[in-house]
Amino acid sequence: MRNKFIAGNWKMQGSLATNPALLHSVAAGAATLPTVTMAVMTPFPYLPQVQALLAGSACAWGAQDVSEEAAGAYTGEVSVAMLQDMGCRYVIVGHSERRARHGESDARVGAKARAAIEGALIPIICLGETLAQREAGETLAVVHRQLDAVLEAVGVRRMPQAVLAYEPVWAIGTGRSATPAQVQEVHAALRSRVSNADWVVGAGLQILYGGSVKPSNALELMGLPDVDGALVGGASLVADDFLDIGRAAATA
Ligand code: PEP
Repeated sequence: MRNKFIAGNWKMQGSLATNPALLHSVAAGAATLPTVTMAVMTPFPYLPQVQALLAGSACAWGAQDVSEEAAGAYTGEVSVAMLQDMGCRYVIVGHSERRARHGESDARVGAKARAAIEGALIPIICLGETLAQREAGETLAVVHRQLDAVLEAVGVRRMPQAVLAYEPVWAIGTGRSATPAQVQEVHAALRSRVSNADWVVGAGLQILYGGSVKPSNALELMGLPDVDGALVGGASLVADDFLDIGRAAATA
């Protein structure tokens, strides 16, 4: 039985003034959900504040990206060691917004996942197809290609130290979630691909779904056999909604 994991992705949102109320509510709610791992991925500048407010709480935290490089002349980048300094347990890598806007290749995403694991951070590795790719019948080919790059960089034996997040690009921030059948098909395919390399690792792999998860669809999505939680964008900024998704994961 895999534990459920609900991760919030704040994206480029938040402020020093408004973060404390949200963090306190989420931490208090997370304490009532002992069977679910709750975490928030916040913008880099707020990590000291998040660390101060969430340390010792039931809610973990992390960042939304990381460099694959350890240190040096990489202006604007943030290293795994810096995230460790901020008490992060998780980091998102390969979010479609970074793949699309910053040209991050499959190989680069794999290198980031490897760097995170080697620095004892858990990467939440995002995969997913665009609408054009889905309509062209390429969904499984795309996510397999993205997954293979990760497996090549990380090695299947280290995949228990990572989390996958299937996020169809067309479902992110659109209010239009993938259907339960679409989600289950892709999650089962991803698990089976990892299982082909190592059955035990595949069976234990945590695979989150992301893309317009909200309280009204969370129970159905979280109840799917190969869904182990959610990566939540918009709804993670509203404490009641984020916690309702956590509660759905606890009961699914
Ligand atoms: C995301 O930011 O990864 C995401 C899934 O966003 P939303 O839940 O708003 O679709």
